[in-house]
This record gives sequence, structure tokens and C-alpha cells, in this order.
Amino acid sequence: MDLPTIQPRLVAVSKTKPADMVIEAYSHGQRTFGENYVQELLEKASNPKILSSCPEIKWHFIGHLQKQNVNKLMAVPNLFMLETVDSVKLADKVNSSWQKRGSPERLKVMVQINTSGEESKYGLPPSETVAVVEHINAKCPSLEFVGLMTIGSFGHDLSQGPNPDFQVLLSLREELCKKLNIPTDQVELSMGMSMDFQHAIEVGSTNVRVGSTIFGERDYSKKPAPDKSAADLKAPVEVAQEH
Ligand SMILES: *Cc1c(COP(=O)(O)O)cnc(C)c1O
Repeated sequence: MDLPTIQPRLVAVSKTKPADMVIEAYSHGQRTFGENYVQELLEKASNPKILSSCPEIKWHFIGHLQKQNVNKLMAVPNLFMLETVDSVKLADKVNSSWQKRGSPERLKVMVQINTSGEESKYGLPPSETVAVVEHINAKCPSLEFVGLMTIGSFGHDLSQGPNPDFQVLLSLREELCKKLNIPTDQVELSMGMSMDFQHAIEVGSTNVRVGSTIFGERDYSKKPAPDKSAADLKAPVEVAQEH
């Protein structure tokens, strides 16, 4: 097993949590935060207190992105990375929307893979990875492909060996780098959450997404996530973990 040569990035997942908690974590040195609903991210990232107290904040979008929300996402202040590109069409839409925004920098994107093959999970089938990455590199000049992301199935028992979802992502990167002739250390792996981020780092994650271990359990009883539409119900991250 190769440990990553760079220190893995910690994405503090602040969904459902108030702006004050983001500001507090920022004041302790945390710079990278993740959200998975576009409306909630837009509101938090535009919050005047966050804008004034967190000038170096970097937002990662880690939720399922519907095409009709792309323009809204592109308007998020300090958007740093989109981790969930899962089709050529979405890549094209994000590319043209980011282009219109006229930013001098390309938007960093990861391609989300459905490594577990579960119906309930978003992401590309592993077999389509190479084609989509090739498309981004060749046809999306406003995007910078930086890595692969997976959620994976929950509750893997580590006494049975390494998490197979993480192994799938690792071997996909191998294949991708060979086929497209990219050095391995230029393709990040976003894998690992509160329950399994240590294991994910041990097997080579460069980007862990940790929410409840940092901010406490999420409470969904108060109000539904603002842009939770029928199409979002497929995202079972919190459901699978907390109910
Ligand atoms: C909510 C979420 C996380 C963080 O989950 P925790 O179990 O609270 O660490 C990570 N990744 C994605 C895609 C999420 O939606």
C-alpha cells in the first residue's frame, strides 16, 4: 500500500450546521468545508459573517448535482471544488456555466464513481470512468480534473479486510493513469467519512469528508434541507447512517 505523499485534505462537512460552527472551526485553522445541498451551500457561503471572518475558506460541493442547479452552484462564493461530476452532460453544463462566470482559474472537479453498484447511490459505473475523464480533459477547458470520489456502501466490517469500495477506487485510478498516461500522484482519491476516515487514509485517500465527528450528529427533524426535491431522495448518506 502506498501512502499518499501529500497530507490528506480534511473536508469538514457542515451540512445542516449553522454558520457560527463554520466560523468557529475556521478560527481553529480549518479552511476546507463541504456541503451537499446547493441552496444551503449558497446561503452559507454568502453569509456576511462567513464572508468577513473566513476570507480563505474553500468550499467543496459533495452532493448530487442536478443540471438545473448548476448555475446556482457556480455562483457560490469561494467554491473550490465540485466532487460529484457523474456524467458527460453534467461536465459539459458545468464547463459552460463556469466559463460564463469568467473566472481566471479552472474549476477543480472530481468524478464520482458508484463503486458499490448500489441502486441507491449516485455516481458513474466504474467502467465509464476513463471515457468521462477523457471527455473532461479534451472537451471541458474550464474544468480541471483532479480526482475520483466515492461514497461506497456503509457499515463495512474491517475485520473482513480492506473496504472493497476503496479498493475499487484505487484500482480505477491505476487503470485511468495507465490509459491516459497521468502520474498517479496527480489523481486524488476522495473517500472516507466519519466512520472510516482513518482506514481510508491508510489505504491512500487524499481527501476525507468528515461531518458528524467534527460537528456532532445531524438533526434533520427541525427543517428539511432547503432544496431537497424528489430527485435528491436517492442520496441516502444521512439516512443510512443515522436512522
Ligand atoms: C454527509 C456527507 C459526509 C459526511 O458524513 P459523516 O458521516 O457525518 O462524516 C461525507 N460525504 C458525503 C457525500 C456526505 O453527504
